[in-house]
Amino acid sequence: MTSKKNDSDRVIVFDTTLRDAEQTPGASLTVREKVEIAHQLARLNVDVIEAGFPISSDEDFEAVRRIAHEVEGPTICGLSRAIDKDINRAGEALKSAPNPRIHTFIGTSPNHTAMVGKTTDEVLRMAVNAVERAKSYGDDVEFSPMDAARTDRAYLYDVIEATIEAGATTINIPDTVGCAVPEQFGDLITGIRKNVPNIDRAVLSVHCHDDLGMAVINSLTALKNGARQAECTINGLGERAGNAALEEIVMAVSTRGNYFGLHTNVKTRELIATSRLVSQLMGIMVPPNKAIVGANAFAHSSGIHQDGVLKNRENFEIIDPRDVGLDATSIVLTARSGRHALKHRLEKLGHHLSPENLDKTYGRFLKVADKKKEVYDEDLLAIIGDEIRDIPTKYRLEYLHTVSGTGTVPSATVRIRINGTEEVQESAWGDGPVDAAYKAIAKISGTSVQVHEYTIRAVTSGAEAMGEVNVRISRNGAETTGRGASTDIIEASAKAYIDALNRLAARTGIEAQRAQAV
Ligand code: MN
Repeated sequence: MTSKKNDSDRVIVFDTTLRDAEQTPGASLTVREKVEIAHQLARLNVDVIEAGFPISSDEDFEAVRRIAHEVEGPTICGLSRAIDKDINRAGEALKSAPNPRIHTFIGTSPNHTAMVGKTTDEVLRMAVNAVERAKSYGDDVEFSPMDAARTDRAYLYDVIEATIEAGATTINIPDTVGCAVPEQFGDLITGIRKNVPNIDRAVLSVHCHDDLGMAVINSLTALKNGARQAECTINGLGERAGNAALEEIVMAVSTRGNYFGLHTNVKTRELIATSRLVSQLMGIMVPPNKAIVGANAFAHSSGIHQDGVLKNRENFEIIDPRDVGLDATSIVLTARSGRHALKHRLEKLGHHLSPENLDKTYGRFLKVADKKKEVYDEDLLAIIGDEIRDIPTKYRLEYLHTVSGTGTVPSATVRIRINGTEEVQESAWGDGPVDAAYKAIAKISGTSVQVHEYTIRAVTSGAEAMGEVNVRISRNGAETTGRGASTDIIEASAKAYIDALNRLAARTGIEAQRAQAV
């Protein structure tokens, strides 16, 4: 059965996971990780990928450039302030994209114009100039009056009219600080559609933040009132409390199609894989009760509910779990599973590996399968996170021995290979074996590193479960996270710390290169 779908009822899904969510402190994705997420977003079939903010760093430029070059399907977008050098840099990064979009923005609220010390007339002129310059790189130009939700209405209408006149093809209305409430925000969208004479020449978009927990409902209300692009992120990640969650907007629109009268082109069966990939690579866990993608989103625990679902799924379930990519008949992998089964399972989890990386992962998988017999998806994700890295390994763990127990002083001996050649060994004692190991590693790396956060979780159940450790460290104000996984939690801890040190070293290398270039 095919339903008649009107294109004017289609919501353009604009994913900004790689830009807004990536700005979260500590969420330091490497270029390769960003490209991997972009490929998965293309499989998810989002319409636009905001790949980064090219002027912000050489790494961000490189990520946008590579995504523009190799990710097929979606429009690839780069962010820029309303400043010539930003726009030129974005244009440069997007050069090889078949469908590039420059997204330029300037603050229009009283707070934000005061912040940059400009008058409203000056801001309006900068906005128009920015759109005109962006237009010289391609037809598809998006403009955002930042903090629109707190901008004077009459002035906002003027800015929108002038930027559409200058050639903007999408006008995005951000609730930058997350202060909007649904009725008011919907009314703002209606007001724009009524009062901006040339509004029919642009797509109206929204970008909502979740400071009051209303990002999704504000976005949906805007769509109900005529907006046709929603900016959102996977798992609702983003600055502060985050952005509107892509999976929630998409599934609300599709599940309650009769109410909204809208649809998207998103392939919802890729939602779970995308969520897991982003969670894994960013090192930010999804709460179990999270709508759509949480571990418990389709779990029924009360007896009445379980009985009801068994009789008829629709008694207590509004979404078929398969529609979001939850496969009820997931195969459990064991040491007898072959490479092909592993590859298939990894692809279901959003990881499409090169033959070389598949070999590496398979070797590690066999070791884990020997230890714990059944290997679950979470174990695989931990292995992948641990095994597949593109950051240069300045430090590599060669040997770790710890002593701990009641009545003993916990101590650790660590041997690390530096730059693939020199081997250094140190011992230290501490409050516990992890502390002792960290002190020994710190002696070897010789840097004054501070550990801000240390979390450990068992990724699956049972005594032989894989432990995954995340640490957040800083050195001289530079902050990063590191991950490590093992069935031995002390080893996982040491690996996470060394991973973070390697990420810091990689970043310092890039900064040194840049300093030389200037
Ligand atoms: Mn934002």
